[in-house]
Formats: sequence, C-alpha cells, structure tokens
Amino acid sequence: MKTYVIVGGVAGGAGTAARLRRLDEDSTIIIYERGEHISFANCGLPYYVGGTISDREDLFVVTPEHFEQVFNIKVRTQSEVLSIDRANKCVTVKDLTSNKEYVQSYDSLVLSPGAAPVRPPIKGIDDSDIYLLRSVRDVDRIVEKVEQENTKRAVVVGGGFIGLEMAENLKERGLEVTLVEALEQVMNVIDYDLAALVQQHMREKGVTLYLADGVSSFDRTDDALVVTLNSGIQIPTDLVLLSIGVRPDANLAKEASLAVGPTGAITVDEHFTTSDPFIKAVGDAIEYPSPFTKQPVTIPLAGPANKQARLCADSIVFGKSRPYKGVIGTSIAKVFDLTAASTGMTSKQLIRANIPFKEVITHEGSHAGYYPNATPISIKVLYNPETGELYGGQAVGYQGVDKRIDVLAAFLTKGGTIDDLAEFEQAYAPPFSSAKDPLNMLGFIAQNTKDGLTHPITSEELKQHHLNGALLVDVRSPGEYMWGTIEDAINIPQTSLREKMASISKDRPIVLFCSVGVRGYVAERVLRNAGFTNVYNLLGGFSSFMSVEYERQLLKNT
Ligand code: FAD
Repeated sequence: MKTYVIVGGVAGGAGTAARLRRLDEDSTIIIYERGEHISFANCGLPYYVGGTISDREDLFVVTPEHFEQVFNIKVRTQSEVLSIDRANKCVTVKDLTSNKEYVQSYDSLVLSPGAAPVRPPIKGIDDSDIYLLRSVRDVDRIVEKVEQENTKRAVVVGGGFIGLEMAENLKERGLEVTLVEALEQVMNVIDYDLAALVQQHMREKGVTLYLADGVSSFDRTDDALVVTLNSGIQIPTDLVLLSIGVRPDANLAKEASLAVGPTGAITVDEHFTTSDPFIKAVGDAIEYPSPFTKQPVTIPLAGPANKQARLCADSIVFGKSRPYKGVIGTSIAKVFDLTAASTGMTSKQLIRANIPFKEVITHEGSHAGYYPNATPISIKVLYNPETGELYGGQAVGYQGVDKRIDVLAAFLTKGGTIDDLAEFEQAYAPPFSSAKDPLNMLGFIAQNTKDGLTHPITSEELKQHHLNGALLVDVRSPGEYMWGTIEDAINIPQTSLREKMASISKDRPIVLFCSVGVRGYVAERVLRNAGFTNVYNLLGGFSSFMSVEYERQLLKNT
C-alpha cells in the first residue's frame, strides 16, 4: 500500500489528492495544509470583501471533514511541512496547534505550496494597516478593518487583477479608493491601448489612479497612514492593500536541494516530476516552458493548477500521464461594469522575446447593432505576419468578452491562425453575436493585411507617419470631425471620397482614419482601387487613438 503525501491543500494540492483517490482506492493519502482551511475559494476572496459573497461559509468549497469522508483522505490543517528528507523519503511536519513536530514517510510527495504575495522592504511596510490577500485569515482581517466606523479610505498598491478586483470591492463597501501602480498602466496582461479603457472606466467609477508612480514609504501620523509615492505625492489612508504580485513559494523545495529555475520556481518535467523522481510539484510554485517562447515561465492561475493536479495524479498512479503542454496564460477580471481579459502573449512580451508580430483591433458591437443593448467590445489579436499563427488576444468590454477570449484561447492552444479566426463558425442569433462575429472580423482584417489589401497602422506608427509628412484624412462625417480630430487632419468624409480624390496627391503618404477603423478601410480600398499605393488605415480608428492620447496626456500632467 502506497503513501502519498501532499503539501498544500488548496487548488493544486486538493485537486491532486482527490484524483489520486479516484485512481487508487488502497493508498494512504495525507494532505498537510499550513492554514486552517483546505480547498477554499481564494479567487472569491475579493468578492467577500465587497459583500457580493455575503456568507463567509460560501468561501469553503470543501471542509476537511467532508474531504475526509468523501475521499478517505487524511487532512491535516494547521500543519506545516518544515523539511524534506529525500534520502529517507520522509517529511518533518509541525502541528501548529501543539507546536509538536513529527516525521511522516512517503512513497510519492507532491508539492503544491502556491505563491506568496510580494512584500518589498519599503519603509513602514510592517504597519498593521497594510494588508495582503492570500488566505481566509487575511480576508477576515481586511473585512474587520473595513467594518470599523472610522475606515473611510483605502489605497490599493498594484494594478494587477487582484488589485483591480479589490479596488472595486472596497469601493462597493463605500470607501474612497486610490490605486497606485508603478507601471504606466494597470493590468499588464493587456496592451496599453486596452488598459487605457479600463483606467478610464475606473476613474468614471470614482477610483483615483496614480500610474507610473511607485510607493517610496508608508508613514504613520496621528490620524492616518500616509502613503508617499516616488513623485512625492502623499496619500493619507486608513488601510493599504498590497497586491504587487506573487512569488513562487519554493523555499521547501530549495532547502531540499530540488532544482529551481531562473524564475525562482520549482523545475518540473512534462509529468510534473521535480529533480527528485519521488517528488512532484504543481501550481503556482512551478515554472514550465512557455508554448510560445520555450522559456520557463510562472503563470499563477487557478485553472492551470487544477489541470496540472489531474495530470500529476495520473503520472503518480500510472507511471506516466498525457504530457503537459504548458500554460498560454488566459485570465479575466471584472472591473466594475467592464470585463478585461487576455490570452497568450501581449505586444510587450513579444517585443521582449524578439518575436516579430502584427496586430489587429476592432471595436465592434457585442451583438447585432439592430438588436437592443449591444455594447462595444474592443478586441485585439496579435499574430505572426508570415504564417498567420496566433500569438495572443485581449478584449475589454461590457458583454461577451469571456466567450471571445475563450475562443481565442482554444485556437491558441491548438496553434490556430488568422484563417481559423476568419472561418470559425459561431453560434449566431442577434441577441448573441453578429453574422460576422468580431472575431471573424479580426480574422478578415488580418487576412486582408496579409494579402496586401490593407495597410493598417497603430497609433504609435501614425505619429511617425505624421512626422514624415503624411496627409492625415479624417473620413468621418463633418459633425464627427467638428467634435475633435487628430492634429493636422483634413476632413473628407468617406462618402464623398470618390468625388474629391482628384484633389489628393498620389505622391504623398496618406493616413486615413474613422472612428473605429471600418470606414477608414473602405476609404483605403477606394483609393487603392483608384491607383493610390501609399495609403494606410489607422487601426481601431480615432477611438483607439484618443483613449491612448488621453491617458498619455494625463500621465504627462501628473
Ligand atoms: P494555493 O492555492 O495558494 O495553495 C497553496 C497552499 O499551500 C496554501 O494554502 C498554503 O498555506 C499551503 N502551504 C504552503 N507551504 C506549506 C507548507 N510548507 N506546509 C503546509 N502547507 C503549505 N486565479 C485565477 O485563475 N482566477 C482568479 O480569479 C483568481 N483570483 C485570485 C484571487 C486571490 C485573492 C488570490 C490570492 C488568488 C487568485 N487566483 C486566481 C490565483 C489562484 O488562486 C492560484 O493560482 C491557485 O490557487 C494556485 O494553486 P496552488 O495549489 O498552487 O496554491
């Protein structure tokens, strides 16, 4: 009879244990969990702060007792695994309630210790009103603080998805919320132009944003905790939520001399075996080669941890499993009324990895425009200009973001191309989509680009064309033009372009733009069909341009 010992009782750990039992009824399975709970809903914690999840008990997906009953698994909570003796195949465990230590032997050991929130050595970081969010204990402390009568203000440090979710939920609780982010943008998993939309929405909802400004110190005064930024700005607050990222919790592995990779996470093979054949590891604590760059990455998300757990258990019981293919990185966040999601690589990551790419963007409706309540959805796709292979996609909108990102993610995991996007057959009726879904449209634009029918340029490229003397033509209506346009642009509405094109020189580069890119494309085809060759269409139109410009101006002025 085998003994399987598991360190960590949440996503990866509990998942591995349950699958192990389903595959092997006779073994002894023991989970050691440092905290008081196993399998709790860490992804739901921000919503408990905001009150959307009102019953604390709902956070406990499974109790230790239930787990023991259903799976016949020994669950040892408040039990920390202190060390691994690889030679003798045993672990030393400390019972945190009695402080007693004991040794437990194993045939297979699975590490799923997760990731710890980053806590930089900033002056004042130990103040009791600075909170992290990882466990139920953390959330209890936060809720207790929020419920105190004199808690009126919160500063969230870090604009990743946990930071944004917390900003929203603290606001829901009626607090005055400020979000501080050291980078130029929130949500680094999406590109700047889409992050700009999220930022604008957050400001509309009353969150004060400080971007491109890190925290230099926390100082206690009589009536507040003061957050001082590198720029010198001081923000008095009652509580700080620190969410500037997580670091793989690989200490136990390191101390046992297991191989750890360049990201600081545990190195595993395609069956989750560490450098010790009797020890496996899954979840946030491991690194694995990216399917795109082949370089090791850590992507701390619940979906991958759960799926790894299943494969890991298979490999323990059967000696092998379906080989793991790695994480493409698909994530989503609700930010007030908006949804922002991403899959695969962003432009920044592609540039860093030296991978040439092209991008297309649309701001189509979430469903047919003639059916009530369609809302805009901004979607961007990044792809290989030679082969059309998809590299990544991002979407921001009010409805239908999740399904578009999931479709993109499905294509990405299967090596899909822009042609797949153009051809994919969606479920269509007016309340749900359009006869040509926004994803189809992105495929068409990318195909047209590849075929040379259109030459789309980004807002950044437009600036260069502008400097090089291109003629900027706003092809929207005179009314739209009057409300604001790009500096130096002349107005020739797309509908009068055929009559007026004789007045345009064929020698000068021409950049066309409309509000979202569609009329610009039609105008580009009119000119190209008439023999113009040096013509470009602004991707995402004035809409993309303005949201980026607006953010850049705000940054300049702060
Ligand atoms: P965890 O689930 O963190 O579990 C690790 C456990 O191991 C911990 O409970 C820890 O106490 C225990 N442990 C560590 N060391 C020891 C030891 N030596 N002895 C005993 N026990 C030990 N992901 C998403 O995909 N979507 C979301 O919406 C989302 N929201 C999130 C919101 C919050 C607030 C947080 C904190 C995370 C969120 N995540 C989300 C991330 C997701 O929860 C993690 O990726 C996932 O839980 C990782 O699983 P894991 O098993 O690797 O680690």
